[in-house]
Amino acid sequence: MSNDWPSEQDRRRLRRRDTFALTLIAVVVLVILSMTGVITLWVMLSTAMAIAALSFIYYLVISTGEPPLPAAEPVGDTSQEPEERPLSPARQILEHLPFPVLLVGPGGRIERANPAAHEFLGLGTESGLLSASLRQPRVLEAVSSALQGERGRVVEYSTFAPIESHVRVHVIPLKAEEDPAFPWRALLILADETSSKRAERMRGDFLANASHELRTPLASLAGFIETLKGHAREDIEARDRFLTIMQDQTERMRRLINDLLSLSRVEMDEHVPPSDTADFSAMVQDTIDSMTPQAHDKGIQVEFEGDPAAPVIGQRDQLFEIAQNLIENALKYSPTGTRILCQINADVSRDEIERLTNTMGESAGRLSISNPPGSTGQRFALLRVRDAGKGIERRQLPRLSERFYRVDGQKSGPKEGTGLGLAIVKHIVSRHRGGFYVESQPGEGSVFSVSIPVSLADAPAAEA
Ligand code: ADP
Repeated sequence: MSNDWPSEQDRRRLRRRDTFALTLIAVVVLVILSMTGVITLWVMLSTAMAIAALSFIYYLVISTGEPPLPAAEPVGDTSQEPEERPLSPARQILEHLPFPVLLVGPGGRIERANPAAHEFLGLGTESGLLSASLRQPRVLEAVSSALQGERGRVVEYSTFAPIESHVRVHVIPLKAEEDPAFPWRALLILADETSSKRAERMRGDFLANASHELRTPLASLAGFIETLKGHAREDIEARDRFLTIMQDQTERMRRLINDLLSLSRVEMDEHVPPSDTADFSAMVQDTIDSMTPQAHDKGIQVEFEGDPAAPVIGQRDQLFEIAQNLIENALKYSPTGTRILCQINADVSRDEIERLTNTMGESAGRLSISNPPGSTGQRFALLRVRDAGKGIERRQLPRLSERFYRVDGQKSGPKEGTGLGLAIVKHIVSRHRGGFYVESQPGEGSVFSVSIPVSLADAPAAEA
């Protein structure tokens, strides 16, 4: 985008240059006409003098005038500023403002944009129309009113795809007196309110969910305490049984609170994709190691297969949480003596993912819980966790990642789940711009798979 908004001095200099050039051309034409006999010498001299006098008067007029308004100081990109012209303090403030600020001129063309605006709207280096970068009719309407000198407005807009975002736009008309033909500009200040809006909603959801889910175990604990204080006081056998149940209930409440907090944290920054690089394969291997005692207790073998390293764009803790939730579920819902296989493919395309997550045959149910947004050329690391558990019916698959959803009658023993694990995985995957897939066949088992975009810096070269 062009960052040069010509100053009033620049314009005057250009007009003086044009006047001089036109006068010179007129005189040369008159001399030629006179030499070829079309006009007499007298006519040539008098016309040339008249043109010179008029040009001189015009020169004097455009050389005097008011200095440009300091308020017209434009917002721009420091990288293109000529070095000999240091930035004014006002301009420097705008450059460093973390809020996107834009100046829009006649026809809705962006004349200036600070670096934050470039980043927020993904502006290129060429000037463009605001409507091409911000397709929000109410904002564009406010901008066109401001360009006609009408009152400024505050407009809010929300988008929900590909990611949720809530933005408040202040549209302010600015007088550009040095441009009599188009005397108004529109100043836009954008405030990204996504985080605060989400935080507000999360708080509400958390309170509603926590109070609803904790009410049952708390009521049961209160009941047992009553009984222990009353007729079971002397009954040693009943007391031990009740205390064991109470311990399980307390443990369940602890898991619920941990999972709810985890879900809230993930949802909170779901709109900000991670920028770190992490090894997804190493995370999976660490998770398997940490679960060996649990697997051993249940007589289940957890095996790893595939690429020993899988660099992805991801946050370590959250990748660990994905692996932990999927492997823990496989352990919870598999009978003793079975085997769980965790497979990692470090670098696969969308088509390969389609094939690799469709392995259980026609009769099995299969669902893409979420698909990655973005370009078709993107490469992914793929984790597949395959168990030989009781499996899930096809009709249940769409509901699996809902909060608190548990397949009918499926108990997982004293370590009963919270119904939040797969919802957490879904949100982490969405933050990582990845995909989440399940295939299952009752009586045979399930495969839960997650794809995460590979880190281009460390990715193995893609096969031609
Ligand atoms: P939970 O804490 O109940 O395990 P999840 O969100 O992790 O919650 O899972 C939701 C439901 O999906 C579980 O209650 C269970 O019924 C079903 N489920 C998840 N993973 C598996 C699996 N590997 N095999 C069979 N059923 C599963």
